Amino acid sequence: MKNPKPSLHAQRVAKEQSFTESEIQDRVRWDLPILAQNSKCSVSLDLPLINCRPTAVCAAVCYAAQGRQAYRQAVLKSVAIQQMIEKDPDRVAHTVVDEAAGRAVRLAGSGEVLPSHRYLVEKIHELGGQTWEFTRRVDTHEALPHLMFSLDAGTPPSALEYIEQSVPVNRRAYLRRPNDPPAPLEVAVTFPLHGPRTPHAKAVPTHPTDCPASRDEVSGCWACRRCY
Ligand code: SF4
Repeated sequence: MKNPKPSLHAQRVAKEQSFTESEIQDRVRWDLPILAQNSKCSVSLDLPLINCRPTAVCAAVCYAAQGRQAYRQAVLKSVAIQQMIEKDPDRVAHTVVDEAAGRAVRLAGSGEVLPSHRYLVEKIHELGGQTWEFTRRVDTHEALPHLMFSLDAGTPPSALEYIEQSVPVNRRAYLRRPNDPPAPLEVAVTFPLHGPRTPHAKAVPTHPTDCPASRDEVSGCWACRRCY
């Protein structure tokens, strides 16, 4: 029997794992920007997807495996940035704050924040930087409880229980595909599934918590700030 096609998440992780150590070390460059720019979020720190513990739903439709974020150079940069954080989190924090120049930084624009990134996040805040961030990892949320928690129709009951008990409603987000019901818990924001390879936002029923950028009602997150 033919093997099923790997999920979008698995395709991107395979790309991350295809780099040689020397390719990664060549990309550990402090003279190049650490942040990425994009039209919706402004600036983001993009991390590798090897950090993720995806649900079956987010693995299948992963936005970070689509479009420009999945270009080889962007993927290599995310792998190199992870190493730069491990080597010198203080330098990364200073660079992030300098490059952001007062703009709020989306963590992580791709991939996942790890519990071990707590030092980096706290350092950025200590230096006066602003961040806004999502996680799907309970251990990351336990380390950094101000993060928003993303759930979807594949979120296991144990994580739903954690969210219900430990995550305030204004820190909960729900990814919704066209045939999914509304979020199983009260949430602050619903993200209709979108992306170059999963362009289905219009097929997702509207809901009062829909992200206004996903519905083309605002030009970017800075004009909304619900997730900040
Ligand atoms: S709800 Fe607002 S802040 Fe959150 S992702 Fe959408 S536009 Fe950005």
